[in-house]
Amino acid sequence: MQKDIRVDQFILIFILHHKIMKKLRKILFLNYAVNLRSREVHRIKTLHHNCHLEKIKCKVYVWPIIAHILCRYYGYNGCWWCFREKDTNGKK
Ligand SMILES: [Zn+2]
Repeated sequence: MQKDIRVDQFILIFILHHKIMKKLRKILFLNYAVNLRSREVHRIKTLHHNCHLEKIKCKVYVWPIIAHILCRYYGYNGCWWCFREKDTNGKK
């Protein structure tokens, strides 16, 4: 039997189901928010009002290392407003 679940999705689903982390994310340094639909990564520290993070329903909060791994190896894209150094859309 083939395992269809991808490693990056497994990590994100794992974090998503720990809703208690939402309250603890500042303590746990979950400084990055990932939009699973658009595969876009937002940085909480430099969050811009154009990010509309409150409108993203399908999002999870991750550690910086996971955000960088997703951008580097899984084709995720940094937000142009708040995480521009990982943006690959070329909207410059
Ligand atoms: Zn953003």
